Amino acid sequence: MLPKRRKSRQIRIGDVLIGGNAPISVQSMTTTDTADVKATLEQIARLVDAGVDIIRIAVPDKQAAAAVPDIVKATPVPLVADIHFDYRLALAAIEGGIHALRLNPGNIEKEEYVRQVVAKAKERDIPIRIGVNFGSIPKISKEESDEITATVANTTELIAEQMVRGALKHIRILEDMDYRNIKISLKAFDVPTMIEAYTRIADRVDYPLHLGVTESGTPKAGSIRSTLGLGYLLANGIGDTLRVSLAGDPVEEIYTGFEILKGLNLRQRGATMVACPTCGRVEIDLIALAERVEKYLERVRQPIKVAVMGCVVNGPGESRDADLGVAGGRGKGVIYAKGEVFRTCAEIDILPTLIEEINKLAGIDTPVTPELIESIGGLPGRNPNGDRVIEGDTEGDTERFIVGHQSLPMFTGVSNAANVPAGRSHRRE
Ligand code: SF4
Repeated sequence: MLPKRRKSRQIRIGDVLIGGNAPISVQSMTTTDTADVKATLEQIARLVDAGVDIIRIAVPDKQAAAAVPDIVKATPVPLVADIHFDYRLALAAIEGGIHALRLNPGNIEKEEYVRQVVAKAKERDIPIRIGVNFGSIPKISKEESDEITATVANTTELIAEQMVRGALKHIRILEDMDYRNIKISLKAFDVPTMIEAYTRIADRVDYPLHLGVTESGTPKAGSIRSTLGLGYLLANGIGDTLRVSLAGDPVEEIYTGFEILKGLNLRQRGATMVACPTCGRVEIDLIALAERVEKYLERVRQPIKVAVMGCVVNGPGESRDADLGVAGGRGKGVIYAKGEVFRTCAEIDILPTLIEEINKLAGIDTPVTPELIESIGGLPGRNPNGDRVIEGDTEGDTERFIVGHQSLPMFTGVSNAANVPAGRSHRRE
């Protein structure tokens, strides 16, 4: 069992609660020029479609600040303005209706300017995220540096403590202005450093924590780094909202964020797919099948579980445990629904059958057409002519089957795929 979640004070960004017992929210940041309202709103729509809770937009100049009112008017989710150094941009974003700010008060030239921003943020009930990254640790005095050095065991702890102290300095500025509508992030590329920093600050303040591994890299490497850092902290009860920062399409950040939360049973959103890694026993074109099912599940909002398994070793168990599953056999698949065998169908029919059943579970009324199958990558293993090709080793011989997808019963109107024996719809070459 995971440790209890750290108790944090609750704040609100638009209609999204953060901290306390609120669900852990998933954030992302647009990559468009904020001044380009159309492009920014299009990207926001894609992120919303993927399930984002909160979106940050960069406000680096007057043109971006001028676009804020139009973007705020049309966004379906709350927005955070990312502001550095220029308090006038913060004031303009608040005037423009922004739902929160990311701003470090210590980076603003004069205390008077910070007071103006805080007064306006209070008036509009807008939270401020203080974000200290490894690359932007505030300068500290020699005495403080010596004091920290004397208490830490290694460089990781040293940097983490410097980040924490930097954040505490920014926090004090706001607290001295009687402002506590705050959340905090302490991001670093180095996973042990960010873990250490968040763990240290978790004990010293009760503000909600926004988790992230910064500059974590491309979707492949970055997802793994983020999963390690965010996963460790979340598994230890630390974290109230998160962003997976990836060098790529920000929509990927949302999928990864939810997969981390789903993996720890902290939040369920959308479908979960169980797929076996395949091995020498696999008897269907499983990887292609799993890729298509996963692609289709992106449009499912209900928390259903689908198992795509290669053979009878683990297939029946995982499939019974899921809402819907398939266990592959030679040229066929046994489909399970709600723990029971529902149908045995030829391999060619597995994907359309799974999609039909997913639609029923998720209340989707899109018909399963060749076009729909094509939109998720086509029937598994088809060659460029539209024929499906399966190669498998049977008793030392290579068997090769080619089946045109038009032979599918559901595409031709011929009876359904129930109880088709293995390979029946395959034409042997
Ligand atoms: Fe191999 Fe079967 Fe396990 Fe998949 S389910 S990994 S094919 S033994």
